[in-house]
Amino acid sequence: MTAPTTDGVLVDRYGRVARDLRVSLTDKCNLRCTYCMPAEGLPWLAGSQLLSDDEIVRLVGIAVRQLGITEVRFTGGEPLIRPGLVDIVSAVAALEPRPRISVTTNGLGLERLAPALRAAGLDRVNVSLDTLDRARFTQLTRRDRHADVLAGLAGAVAAGLTPVKVNTVLIRGVNDDEAPALLRFALAHGYELRFIEQMPLDAQHGWDRTTMVTADEILAALAREFTLTPDPAERGAAPAETWLVDGGPARVGVIGSVTRPFCGDCDRTRLTADGQVRACLFATEESDLRGALRAGADDAELARRWRTAMWGKRAGHGIDDPTFLQPARPMSAIGG
Ligand code: SAM
Ligand code: SF4
Repeated sequence: MTAPTTDGVLVDRYGRVARDLRVSLTDKCNLRCTYCMPAEGLPWLAGSQLLSDDEIVRLVGIAVRQLGITEVRFTGGEPLIRPGLVDIVSAVAALEPRPRISVTTNGLGLERLAPALRAAGLDRVNVSLDTLDRARFTQLTRRDRHADVLAGLAGAVAAGLTPVKVNTVLIRGVNDDEAPALLRFALAHGYELRFIEQMPLDAQHGWDRTTMVTADEILAALAREFTLTPDPAERGAAPAETWLVDGGPARVGVIGSVTRPFCGDCDRTRLTADGQVRACLFATEESDLRGALRAGADDAELARRWRTAMWGKRAGHGIDDPTFLQPARPMSAIGG
């Protein structure tokens, strides 16, 4: 299947245009969140399989200059453990037209890195934090690093990486009683909180719909303490539905990927740490740009392959289809 010869944008058969590129910088991580990966970790990609810093910058450059990408988000695994992160951000910030640049991180080491990242051109961060309780954090992530995440959040604000967004996944019986407390915490610090429904993307294939905490449950829990009104701001392609808290201006978001899918408005394209384009988190197909790049393909050929990969994007993730198959790679390898 070949994409039409529409130069300049990543469009699919349903007319969706990808503007937002998620780049995984590594599949490795220094936490072991139970809903993401097993305690022993995973068989990590070999160094030779990973795109080099220069290869990443070249591919992001093609996406920005030739394919209409305006937002670049670095993720993983844990992007802050990639040694070249600051240099990659700096090179991407020098691209014309300059994309907006953000990072999704677990926050470990962010306190130290935030000023250098800001100076390199990073615009903002999303920091993942699922609990306010140190013991629970240790249970959920299998590492006693709660204080480092809190310090990372404060460091991000101090460095001007704002607005700082906080991503939270609620797990039934573990931290599902914390929604209002997490919102109070976020309001007190000026962070924008977004709850994410747990998705079938864990390496252990342990996801179970019946135990997933749904968007409706999260909203009901918040409504017991706060007045939530629909945010009048245009949602656009943003995955989070947002609500004004107690009249605003503070907001809270819920990403109901499973029960309130937003596939019809999706504007994402993904590049894995080993150079594969994925049209969707849940795609079962990947398109190998690394092989083509290392075989000497020029920018026009790489752009053509990227367009073809996106043209084949499916209408939706199909989690509710009886035929749904969880992708072979977990979220930590695809880039969350
Ligand atoms: N390590 C970084 C972090 O934790 O922010 C970036 C990668 S992580 C895969 C990105 C986001 O995906 C995090 O907010 C994490 O909580 C979330 N996540 C991981 N596994 C998930 C799952 N099965 N369902 C929903 N969200 C998940
Ligand atoms: Fe690491 Fe992020 Fe997965 Fe947690 S969610 S194990 S921090 S990649």
